[in-house]
Amino acid sequence: MKTIGHLINGTIDTQASRTQDIFNPSTGEVSKQLALASKPTVEAAIAAAQAAYPAWRNTPPLKRAKIMFRFKELLERNADEICRLIGEEHGKIAHDAMGELQRGIENVEYACGAPELLKGEFSKNAGPAIDSWSEFQPLGVVAGITPFNFPAMVPLWMYPMAIVCGNTFVLKPSERNPSSVLFIAELLHEAGLPPGVLNVVNGDKEAVDVLLSDARIQAVSFVGSTPIAEYIYTTASANGKRCQALGGAKNHAIIMPDADMDNAVSALVGAAFGSSGERCMALSVAVAVGDEAADALISKMSEQMKSLKVGAFSDKTNDFGPLITRAHQEKVVGYISSAEQQGATLVVDGRKPTVAGYDKGFYVGGTLIDNVTADMTCYKEEIFGPVLLVMRVNSMQEAMQLIDDHEYGNGTCIFTRDGEAARYFSDNIMVGMVGINVPLPVPVAYHSFGGWKRSLFGDLHAYGPDAVRFYTKRKTVTQRWPSAGVREGAQFSFPS
Ligand code: NAD
Repeated sequence: MKTIGHLINGTIDTQASRTQDIFNPSTGEVSKQLALASKPTVEAAIAAAQAAYPAWRNTPPLKRAKIMFRFKELLERNADEICRLIGEEHGKIAHDAMGELQRGIENVEYACGAPELLKGEFSKNAGPAIDSWSEFQPLGVVAGITPFNFPAMVPLWMYPMAIVCGNTFVLKPSERNPSSVLFIAELLHEAGLPPGVLNVVNGDKEAVDVLLSDARIQAVSFVGSTPIAEYIYTTASANGKRCQALGGAKNHAIIMPDADMDNAVSALVGAAFGSSGERCMALSVAVAVGDEAADALISKMSEQMKSLKVGAFSDKTNDFGPLITRAHQEKVVGYISSAEQQGATLVVDGRKPTVAGYDKGFYVGGTLIDNVTADMTCYKEEIFGPVLLVMRVNSMQEAMQLIDDHEYGNGTCIFTRDGEAARYFSDNIMVGMVGINVPLPVPVAYHSFGGWKRSLFGDLHAYGPDAVRFYTKRKTVTQRWPSAGVREGAQFSFPS
């Protein structure tokens, strides 16, 4: 059976004292083995990044950007293979994997603008014959730790920008689906990246803890669940590292009585069940304002859900695939059962879907639960499965209060025809990414991505303009060249 290793200093290394099974979630079978990095392996990756740093730091941004241009072309040319690798280990259907990859490529495109992004700021004659400028210097060796649900896109949120800013990088991707990550990293080398600038170590907590404690790592970007995000942020910060840690979510959609209900329902079906609900921006709670809106929503949703097709990643006609592991499938089923036990109404039950020929796959079908209340476990916690909860409230204020009271604040949206209500909502809601009749308000690559409250620990959001700030430190230089013969005496007052 194939063993997946690490990419250190441009070379694949498959030696391992510990290994872990990699599953094909569509069949439920073990497909590969993963080498789990020990402390010396991670240290070797950090050493390679440290050695590559001086030359890379001094490589002109234009040359760094040219490598990104070639990388973008290679990603596009190899898109089908990347999507196949994602499907095999994640379970995502090709059309969904392609969407993820496209969003990742857009981050590479943004990184191609490095010469413009790193131009800095210049003031001529800030004082008499004095010029002043701010430049954005790289940090050194930086690390990224990424989740399973976007194996291609989330790493592409991080290292293209970190690298074009002049840093070198150690990536620790999810141990569930590493193959597309390694394949993509090899494409970047094919595009001309010098060895050691990007290193990939596969592993678990042991590898992560080395990245959090090693003094050579200057900054850590993390994306994953909230408890781990909090741990990463606290530990990295205590060790003097810059850190941004993006966590979990519970994304609410408010359905106003005046909403275009057919549009809202179609949007909700895609945003709640697409990618089996394993998206940090998945809409997992619909808050209907008034019983009339709630009844219409439930009736139209259950009708549309009759045609939902869950199945193996290899069948492109499927709407969504399996969950990532057997344990996660059982957890999602547990949340559905708990909702029923705690008094909610199970309208469509996806606990036992039939997927012909794939009995051992980790499937849960689309599930719709009505009359959910804020004290229920299924509401308080992130389910991360194809489950839509419906809550009934009497006013928009009540709906907004629910959202503001929730510990997560990643994404939200409102479906309405009322511009004034939408504007009030977007202005006041305590959530980082807001949609107005847009169910998945994932910012484009030239904005930045991030939630509020316990969905993000740190000051800056991911990718886009915030990434330039995260992966650089500002240096401001003030310069004067005294002309020959003109010399000022000592000045004892503050220059003004
Ligand atoms: P996870 O937190 O289990 O794992 C994320 C990373 O942390 C992996 O690389 C994993 O190896 C590592 N890790 C796991 N346990 C660790 C530990 N004890 N110590 C140190 N490192 C550890 O998350 P996941 O299951 O891979 O991904 C799903 C989660 O990610 C969901 O909560 C989802 O909402 C979140 N997510 C958030 C965003 C966002 O932008 N906010 C994006 C994607 C996913």
